[in-house]
Amino acid sequence: MSSHSNSTSLATVDVLPVPTVTRTQAFIDGAFVDAQSGRTFPTYAPSTGHLLAMVADGGVEDVDLAALAARRAFDAGSWSHADVRRAAMTRLADLVEENAQELAALDAIDAGKPITDCETGDIPEVAHLFRWYAEAIDKVFGKVSPTSEGHLGIITREPVGVVGIVVPWNYPAVMLTFKAAPALAAGNCVVAKPAEQAPLSALRLAELATEAGFPPGVFNVVPGDGPTAGRAVGMHPLIDAVAFTGSTQVGREFLRYAAESNMKNVVLELGGKSPQIVLADMKADLQVIAEDLAGAAFGNAGQNCTAGSRVLVANVLREELTDRLAQAASKIRLGDPMDRSTEMGPLIERTALERVSRYVDEAVALGARVRVGGSAVLEDTGGHFYPPTVVDQVTPDMAIAREEIFGPVVAVLGFDTEEEALQLANDSEYGLAATVWSHDVDVSFRMARGIRAGTVAINGYSEGDITTPFGGHRTSGFGGRDSGIEAMEQYTELKTTWFTLR
Ligand code: NAD
Repeated sequence: MSSHSNSTSLATVDVLPVPTVTRTQAFIDGAFVDAQSGRTFPTYAPSTGHLLAMVADGGVEDVDLAALAARRAFDAGSWSHADVRRAAMTRLADLVEENAQELAALDAIDAGKPITDCETGDIPEVAHLFRWYAEAIDKVFGKVSPTSEGHLGIITREPVGVVGIVVPWNYPAVMLTFKAAPALAAGNCVVAKPAEQAPLSALRLAELATEAGFPPGVFNVVPGDGPTAGRAVGMHPLIDAVAFTGSTQVGREFLRYAAESNMKNVVLELGGKSPQIVLADMKADLQVIAEDLAGAAFGNAGQNCTAGSRVLVANVLREELTDRLAQAASKIRLGDPMDRSTEMGPLIERTALERVSRYVDEAVALGARVRVGGSAVLEDTGGHFYPPTVVDQVTPDMAIAREEIFGPVVAVLGFDTEEEALQLANDSEYGLAATVWSHDVDVSFRMARGIRAGTVAINGYSEGDITTPFGGHRTSGFGGRDSGIEAMEQYTELKTTWFTLR
């Protein structure tokens, strides 16, 4: 999920210095500590390939210490007071704003995201999430059931206890906060494992949480790799629920971990192959649509779960729309993430560049045509840059039309009828998001109802906002939602208390 847009005024400097990395240890029980093994792992700048920092390489024993600390904090009860939580989370939102420049720079350099996106989107979103859920704390409460006379049934929501959080690198601070803010607001303590490619902002956030008044053990961060530290979170018997965002393949692993350990609740936000459908009545709006499609497909270099990576367009509009989309793509400025004029940064790592190139090359070999982009650029930087790429003459069976590429590549397919558009849209194992463009309310409503996806946007790409639940159908995930009050509820257990009145 990407961050929702937000705007703040920008300072005047254009290229910012690479930030000093101050926090590289794990954050457990309110303090920075080395990994028990003493091991560290490197995190690199994707824009240059340069080493940024060596980070504590958390393992099973570190996750164990964090889970024990979280359980102790939960049992001690101070976090169960709504007033304590509200005050600390509100203060954390303030501290995120006060330290926004540093947090934005950490995510920009560690994940290769344009600094302007981090300054105006990601970090304001993190502050907003902590503040919104702090304010929601006393707005989620139970019910009294309509029992017969002589009984009283009270339905309450209780925190599950310790919530494990495992997240990807594409929006490092936002992904963590989408899980942590509602879980903490609901009264849980957390053990978070950030992605090994971009762990830095999570460590700084945990430190700010402590400064904001979070008791020790409430918010723990254990960096480390997926198969070791991530698995340890999934398997830990003291972790009562796990919130995972990442690939569908690793999502399946978390279901196995739960089955093999304590049957913890599992919330999965997974991959996508989201269609952007343009109906035949949109001829007058093709320029606006092309620009919106480019934003949907190429934002965050296409490294976005809801990336609009399949454009399905009425055949009567196909040629013109594809031209305009290619033009919009060619105007996007690639470059140094720390430069405020950069609109697209590099891909996260070399293997990602190879994967994206492979999808495009294979499609071309099968008869598809590259309209713009199509091979790596800025190679002299040492970074992993791939330009916005538009591919047409794609058929529905090609991998480029079916699989999540997680890069700046959009496949264009044509259709003749509304029925065919719907069939193409649903011809996917994923069901995360979709956009429908039509001025005909009947058509767009029929499409919205027929598309199997968690979010369907009409006349403009969107993931909704903080008030609307976000998540997928089918292999895009299940078990809960990010955003909305629904996100808070998923970190609670329902309890019925039944009185017999004598
Ligand atoms: P990934 O699944 O490889 O990694 C995500 C996290 O899981 C990382 O912290 C990683 O260390 C950990 N992990 C990896 N292997 C593991 C294992 N065997 N056991 C336990 N943990 C493990 O995903 P990624 O490449 O970092 O991110 C890209 C994926 O994330 C894409 O599929 C994208 O669609 C998805 N995503 C989904 C959403 C959403 O809200 N639906 C949002 C952002 C990204």
